[in-house]
Amino acid sequence: VKRESLNFIEQLIENDLNSGKHQAIQTRFPPEPNGYLHIGHAKSICLNFGLAEKFNGKCNLRFDDTNPEKEDVEYVDSIKKDIKWLGFEWDGEHYASDYFGTLYGFAQALIKKGSAYVDDLSQEAFNEIKGTPTVPGKHSPFRERSLEENLLLFEEMKDGKYKNGEKVLRAKIDMSSPNMHMRDPILYRIRHTEHHRTGNEWCIYPTYDFAHGQSDSIEHVTHSLCTLEFEVHRPLYEWLIKELEIFPSKQTEFARLNLSYTVVSKRKLLELVEGKYVAGWDDPRMPTISGIRRRGFTPEAVKTFIKKVGVARRDGITDVALLEHAVREDLNRRCNRVFGILDPVKLVITNWPEDKEEVMTAVNNPEDEAAGTREMLFTRELYIDRADFMEDPPSPKKWYRLGPDREVRLKYGYIIKCTGFDKGADGEIATIYAEYDPETRSGQDTSGKKVKGTLGWVSVKHAVHAEIRLYDRLFHTENLNDIEDDFKNHLNPNSLEINDKVVLEGSLKNAKVDDLVQFERVGYFRVDEDSTADKLVFNRTITLRDNW
Ligand code: ATP
Ligand code: MG
Ligand code: MG
Repeated sequence: VKRESLNFIEQLIENDLNSGKHQAIQTRFPPEPNGYLHIGHAKSICLNFGLAEKFNGKCNLRFDDTNPEKEDVEYVDSIKKDIKWLGFEWDGEHYASDYFGTLYGFAQALIKKGSAYVDDLSQEAFNEIKGTPTVPGKHSPFRERSLEENLLLFEEMKDGKYKNGEKVLRAKIDMSSPNMHMRDPILYRIRHTEHHRTGNEWCIYPTYDFAHGQSDSIEHVTHSLCTLEFEVHRPLYEWLIKELEIFPSKQTEFARLNLSYTVVSKRKLLELVEGKYVAGWDDPRMPTISGIRRRGFTPEAVKTFIKKVGVARRDGITDVALLEHAVREDLNRRCNRVFGILDPVKLVITNWPEDKEEVMTAVNNPEDEAAGTREMLFTRELYIDRADFMEDPPSPKKWYRLGPDREVRLKYGYIIKCTGFDKGADGEIATIYAEYDPETRSGQDTSGKKVKGTLGWVSVKHAVHAEIRLYDRLFHTENLNDIEDDFKNHLNPNSLEINDKVVLEGSLKNAKVDDLVQFERVGYFRVDEDSTADKLVFNRTITLRDNW
């Protein structure tokens, strides 16, 4: 691998391997099971698993499950499903809660060294003595308790003698440190709450800072990668490992992924789910992995996107159009083209015999010869899209499609000429009439005719009726990190439009959930899980037009 093509974390790893600091690398992806994964997590997943693959190391999945109030097995299961969908497999599967016993022992060791103490100050009282970055804090009156008293009180905390908030265990570091995280941070707090894995075994739980780095160390994680907001936690991460004299995992930070027109924060996404602003975590408008999967994005496209974003140490916002571009490119390669008519109007070929059905051959994917061809039945009554007809069109140079006396080709079929139309009571075109030219069969045209317009069509007799869900951006504001009001004020009220009048060519009769297709000239669609035996439901993954 060329050195210049490595990002800064890869360079660091290469140095550590070349210098013999590590024989092999160990990374981990450490989600808290308090929500579904989003596209931001995909960056961390691709990074941690990708590095292990690239350098022949290992990557663990570790659930940082130290906040029992907010966590649930539903989230654990969804996280595993999403990682697998992205195409990664973890080496070890671990839970910070599996280490609660070890962590308790670590805390006792700190107390015995005089590096931790039980504090009775309430959160508010501590905040009053904590100071500010420029004003040193004062010591808690409980800071100088004896080792014996601290050990006893800590054990009583564990045994359930105290109520929530009555006592905490703090690291004894430096109340005048310019880094506020070093001013006697909390290591353990009391929570009389059932945990989704340990039940009621514990009523004290370690804080993020105490659990995270120690879990890394227990697993011999060599490179602990996290987002930039944890940079200020690094001195504490290192202090704890040094005090405990345990395996020296090293923390390195990278910029989090932010995406335009959406939010990547589990807390905010949970708010959308709970407030029923969306249909659930997997609503196709959500930036969750489960949402984009249901929408029709592919893991390959997501990974291409993450690769293009790259790894850096500067926070920024990535244009969602870059993700959409990757999706379009991938779907263009993999999807068969079919005819789907969003706004159907009937077209009758008056010189075509009543019951005649002629087999036409359609190309499945012009980008992929191996995708082959399919048969389509051409009949007297067809559907075309209302948008392809104009009652009073401008000159043929400006309007290639159908209009009175105009000729177009029905793709894979014949050239037809419009001979008239009827209107319904509502004034809308109800039926269009045309005649076909028998000498113009697609592939066997002997007429010498040239027409510019080519239209999609669906045989009325063989049409499959479907519902499509057209999605637009969930928010109408580009940068949701910049706003001062409630992010929910920025929701796009028109992010979902349902059309249940769609007709599809007969070949889609057997479409299955998760199938991806391109409706010619319309967009890419995925068959949704809401489909029933009577009605197919398609999600529009993305339009054809690229504005990247
Ligand atoms: P959120 O703010 O959405 O709750 P989090 O960081 O609290 O995210 P975790 O479950 O703790 O969520 O995240 C697991 C891993 O994914 C962490 O290492 C975290 O740094 C990383 N991660 C989370 N969000 C992003 C993001 N937007 N870009 C890159 N990495 C992320
Ligand atoms: Mg977190
Ligand atoms: Mg969070």
